Amino acid sequence: MRPEILYPLFKPLTALPGVGPRNAKLIEHVTGGPHVVNLLWHLPTGLIDRSFQPLVHAAPAGQIATLLVTVDKHIPAPNRRLPYRVLCSDNTGTAELVFFHARPDWLKKMLPIGVQRVVSGKIEHYRSVVQITHPDHIALPEERGSLIGIEPIHGLTQGLSPKTLRRTIAAALTELPDLPQWLDEAHLEREGWAPWKESVLAAHQPVKEGDLDPLTSARQRLAYDELLASQLAMALARLHIRRQGGIITKSNGDLRARALKTLPYTLTESQKTSLKEILDDMSAQLRMLRLLQGDVGSGKTVVAAIAMLESISAGRQAALMAPTEILARQHLAALAPVFEAAGARIELLTGRLKGEPRRRLLDGLAAGDVDALVGTHALIQNDVMFADLALAVVDEQHRFGVAQRLQLAEKGQGTDVLVMTATPIPRTLTLMAYGDLDISRLTEKPAGRHPIDTRTMPLERLDEVIAGIGRAIGSGERGDRQVFWVCPLVEESEALDLAAAEERFESLGRLFPGKVGMVHGQMRGHEKDAVMADFEAGRIRILVATTVIEVGVDIPTATVMVVEHAERFGLAQLHQLRGRIGRGSEISTCVLLYSSTASETARNRLKILRETEDGFKIAEEDLRLRGAGEILGTRQSGLPAFRVADISAHSDLMQIARDDAALILEKDPGLATARGKALRVLLYLFERDAAVTYARSG
Ligand code: ADP
Ligand code: MG
Repeated sequence: MRPEILYPLFKPLTALPGVGPRNAKLIEHVTGGPHVVNLLWHLPTGLIDRSFQPLVHAAPAGQIATLLVTVDKHIPAPNRRLPYRVLCSDNTGTAELVFFHARPDWLKKMLPIGVQRVVSGKIEHYRSVVQITHPDHIALPEERGSLIGIEPIHGLTQGLSPKTLRRTIAAALTELPDLPQWLDEAHLEREGWAPWKESVLAAHQPVKEGDLDPLTSARQRLAYDELLASQLAMALARLHIRRQGGIITKSNGDLRARALKTLPYTLTESQKTSLKEILDDMSAQLRMLRLLQGDVGSGKTVVAAIAMLESISAGRQAALMAPTEILARQHLAALAPVFEAAGARIELLTGRLKGEPRRRLLDGLAAGDVDALVGTHALIQNDVMFADLALAVVDEQHRFGVAQRLQLAEKGQGTDVLVMTATPIPRTLTLMAYGDLDISRLTEKPAGRHPIDTRTMPLERLDEVIAGIGRAIGSGERGDRQVFWVCPLVEESEALDLAAAEERFESLGRLFPGKVGMVHGQMRGHEKDAVMADFEAGRIRILVATTVIEVGVDIPTATVMVVEHAERFGLAQLHQLRGRIGRGSEISTCVLLYSSTASETARNRLKILRETEDGFKIAEEDLRLRGAGEILGTRQSGLPAFRVADISAHSDLMQIARDDAALILEKDPGLATARGKALRVLLYLFERDAAVTYARSG
């Protein structure tokens, strides 16, 4: 239960004065949460100095200024395209206030003729007339004192006025409780950090540019709090898992050997090494918590399959959870022959399985007749019970959170956990995303792969690209190729982006009738499957897709990929997409189309993909060029999104937070001391509620 002291911060936004449901929605959109507390992490990104108060004749263009003027005349807009103007003056000259799409009543009320008003905004000179278009403030002369200060600027969204957001944040700041001290006193003193409440206030009240720096004392302290909460939560989860103790899973390895014999290839060196690390963990008393990290196509699935068979050899069960239905089916298809060769029974469970067949499957699972289960998050539903789950494999392809990862493991006793990810996270960030997981890495590609021919082109050359595609899928020597055509989905407007993809689907369909299919995120599972099956069988030659194909489809005959608006993707994401081709023995081609409006930096970024196929290198570059903020910000990354902490600026704090968390749990694993209790408040403050339950059960 959340401690009472935090109640004021976990009220809904509508509990704040002047916030109705409409504004609450908009604010939630920018702060990422429905509670008052989320406002605290929405720190200013800039500031406006309104203290400059020139006379009208001396007001310079381009500057923010606050003028004291008398209203002389209203000139209504002559038509809808032209502005409403209000003429004002002081002793030195005339200033014009300009309003587009104005509401005349409101303007007449705000700016009555013959009276003085304070107006503030950016000065423009239009045909030598001093103008302010849409002043930021219109106030009474006696309000001038409160207006001419420093005004913080915040990230906004369409429809949310800066004033409303500022006022709401100010209201939230009046609710700040005095929270107990969760930092080590000596540490606090060494850093010279202020108490929590003071730090929050300071971070929200910048008075000069320097106060916006992530390295100010206030921001560092808040960042540290956030990092500590995150590290402590991960360490608690790990402790919780470890405490339950592992079970030795060891067999004579006969199923494994049988399966390996049926593979049409031999394992790469890093597959062998990783497999050994995994089997060593499984056969140890300690519970395994391991991450298998490897680029798309590096062969993680077979490593997982062999580990799963080891559980079955030992008379126990295994499960594999994938983030999407398509991927779960694909895993099943990959695992089935291996399992069949070993004589083990593997089944699929997704949300689509219902009624009697589902009940039969669950019965078989609970009785131990089903050896292995593959599926989506349907696997963690309450009524799914295993007879004896030895190994939980989570193929997260960056979609699951820590909690879901553990939920599957909770279905067994001392269940070993293997997390697979294809996100090549830079080393510096691995710690952040996966805390203390042990790591195995697949660093080489299976033999026989050709490099991918990657090109970047402006969208203007689309016709050329389409002609090339026509040759590739048409008849003739190289006419048997298959093409992925990726259209971006940008969060801002899913509907619009989907429309763009549909349009592309139609235009390509007109050129290549009967050869084009489409998949996107809003389709029903079986619809998607049908299209994928058509593509796999070669009935469809071009698959237009939104980024749903990113998650692991395996179609070796697809050798061309076109990505539209490649500049909108992160490098790591493009790398993942590109990994969909180049799987067969043919040379594959990837065409990255960029818009002519893309920035120079964005284009340069794409060049890196031409230069290398090393996912880790690409991730490092992505980090260097975009900054961790952006990488962490994208939901795709699977990395926790920090609100205050900035990974590039605060990386040293990260390390300290990690050590701090380890030390805390060594001394006080149940968080029972005074500091421990304060740390519980910290965990709740950062909405790590699940972690607190791990401490309690300790
Ligand atoms: P990942 O899951 O890491 O993206 P997969 O496990 O799907 O990669 O493997 C990609 C492809 O490579 C599969 O078709 C698989 O059969 C094949 N493969 C895996 N290991 C090897 C190997 N050692 N040699 C040749 N091919 C391999
Ligand atoms: Mg895979």
